[in-house]
Order: sequence, then C-alpha cells, then structure tokens
Amino acid sequence: MSTTPQALYRDEGVVLRTQKLGEADRIVTVLTRRTGKVRAVAKGVRRTKSKFGARLEPFSHVDLQLYTGRNLDIVSQAESIRAYGPAVVGDYRAYTAGTAVLETADRLTAEEKEPSLRMFLLVIGALRTLAEGQKPAPLVLDAFLLRAMSVAGWEPALGDCARCGEAGPHRHFSVPAGGTVCPSCRPTGSAMPSPVTIELLEALLSGDWGRAEASLAINRREGSGLVAALLQWHLERGLRSLPLVDRA
Ligand SMILES: [Zn+2]
Repeated sequence: MSTTPQALYRDEGVVLRTQKLGEADRIVTVLTRRTGKVRAVAKGVRRTKSKFGARLEPFSHVDLQLYTGRNLDIVSQAESIRAYGPAVVGDYRAYTAGTAVLETADRLTAEEKEPSLRMFLLVIGALRTLAEGQKPAPLVLDAFLLRAMSVAGWEPALGDCARCGEAGPHRHFSVPAGGTVCPSCRPTGSAMPSPVTIELLEALLSGDWGRAEASLAINRREGSGLVAALLQWHLERGLRSLPLVDRA
C-alpha cells in the first residue's frame, strides 16, 4: 500500500475572496503569480489568535506555502508582502472599484491552476494604484477591465472594424461585435458613442494616463458604460460588484 506524499509548493498571490468553512476555517481564493488561481483551506483562521487570519484577507498580497490536497489545497504558511486592504477599504470609491477588480479577476480566470502571469500583474498593478489614491478610481477600474478583457482574449476593437478589420476610426460601436464597426459590418442596434469617448478607452487600454486624466466626466461615464457592457457580454452572469462602483 502506497501513500502519496502531499506536494508542498510556494507561491505569491493576491487574495481575491474568502468563504467560511466550518467553525474556524476559511476557503481562500488566491490569484498566484506562477500557479494561477488556487482555492485553498486556511485552517483555524477564524480563531482570534490566528496568525493567518489578518494576512489572508481580500486585497492582500501574500507569500504562501501550500500543500496540494485532493480537492482543495491547504495553506501551511502565509507571510504578508503588502496589504492593500487598509488603504483601499478606507476610501469608498477605491473600495468599490477594488472589489470589482477582484471579482472580475476571479470570473475571468475560470480554470484553477492555469497560470496567468499577466492577469496577476494587472491585479497587483490596479490594487497598488487604487491604494496610492493618485488616480481617479473609476478610471483605474476601467483601465483594468479593458486590459483584463484583452488578457482573456476579448480585446475590444477601438479603431479598426471589430468584424472585418477595416482601418478606422469608425463611428459605430457594437457590444456583440466587440467594439467599433465599419458601415458595412455594423449590426442593427449599434451605438454611436462620442469619438472622444473611444479615444479615452484607447488611452486607458494603452496606459496613456496623461490623455486619460485629461478626459471629461461625460466621456468617462459613457466609456464606463461601454466597458461594463462589453464585460457583461462576455460573462455568463453579470458582476455583482460592478453596479455598486461609486463613479460620482
Ligand atoms: Zn467591417
């Protein structure tokens, strides 16, 4: 009779979500740098003297040691690298945007343990920027959502036609088609957003913060609506956190 030794591994990650498990334990969902999304049991974290408890909260960037389990892995050590929680939770707009970042990252990484370094880096970058508080939180969120869709293989067309690739700019925008569409491809029901709004989305996708921060509220609002519609189109169920984002 053989017993398979449990594999021990180490990785760093950001805590996306936690769920209660039994009296004292918690299941943590962590997007890791090398392993991808991992769901693991953290034992005893809900006891008051737990050394893990405070480190394994959403928004925390942690260094973990885990054992591979049959269904769920088990966290054996957790060291804090940086806790973005206190800074993000202390600012309502950053908090609602950050919650949408975590939920989106969770939903866009459908498969567990499928490495996605780019998604990990996007999440860390978004949380760091929200925690610093120097950029408008709704813009940070929309930049993250556009890039996260790109990483997931759904980069929106923001110039050339989403269907035939004809060089833009094009005036029509179709969420089902995946962005801007040329006159011959445009499906009925296409929207005609302001060209300035499309430029804002381009700036957010490419990380041109000078242009993005010079944008007007009306274009930011319209842009957020397009980004949310694109994301909801790709996800089976809508995001719970997105309607709660404070964009005031
Ligand atoms: Zn076309």
